[in-house]
Amino acid sequence: MRRQTVPPAIRREVIRRWGNDCWLHLPGCTRVGEEDDHIVPWSHSGRDSVDNIRRACKHCNASRQDRVLSGYGPNMHVVMGPPGADLMGAAEPRLSRDSIVVSHADLMRALCPEGLYPAPPAALRAAAGSAWDAAYRRLAKSRAPVDVWLLRTLPMSRTHPRMLDEWVALDYDIRVIDPGADYVFDRARLDADALRVARQWYALHLTQDAVDARLAARRAELVRLGLRSAEAAASNRIEW
Ligand SMILES: [Zn+2]
Repeated sequence: MRRQTVPPAIRREVIRRWGNDCWLHLPGCTRVGEEDDHIVPWSHSGRDSVDNIRRACKHCNASRQDRVLSGYGPNMHVVMGPPGADLMGAAEPRLSRDSIVVSHADLMRALCPEGLYPAPPAALRAAAGSAWDAAYRRLAKSRAPVDVWLLRTLPMSRTHPRMLDEWVALDYDIRVIDPGADYVFDRARLDADALRVARQWYALHLTQDAVDARLAARRAELVRLGLRSAEAAASNRIEW
């Protein structure tokens, strides 16, 4: 258990200034602040200060697992799209020497070389998924201000069905790369797996505009909570 050491006077001031609603809004949020949540986590030497604490519900505090708001450690980018979308091609011009890329497709290729496994066994596919998830969660708690690029198709997994909601809550830079359903289904027609994922993808009706609208709403909330300044949020965004 994390020790709760926040002095009552600081907690009172946090609630007076920022309110007692849960600030995180992760999937499953109960909305009511029940715990003191450190914006810069304890594990990163985050302080017990009015600036560094917001109220969070128990559920969000636990499911955040020390992942930080994008920019409070690593800058988090997500590039997603249906099977056949060139996610790496979209990210590449924006990568710097120090960028870290966590690509689901590359992990799949590493674990299931095509020549070796024309139809990768389910266990290996699951292993690639777990490797992606572990790398993501580890990097999302990083203390260093590195650029992390997450590349994958569906913004969900069996264990984390609402990943996109988590990314919006934590204010990630999110890009949707969709070459169009005609292209995607034509390319996937001989690959049962790709077809299944393409169907799942288009059932989500994900568009850049819809994602941008959600991110804008979330950022307005973060500005109100004193966690973003409107200008800084705009200026340290990557150009797409
Ligand atoms: Zn919550």
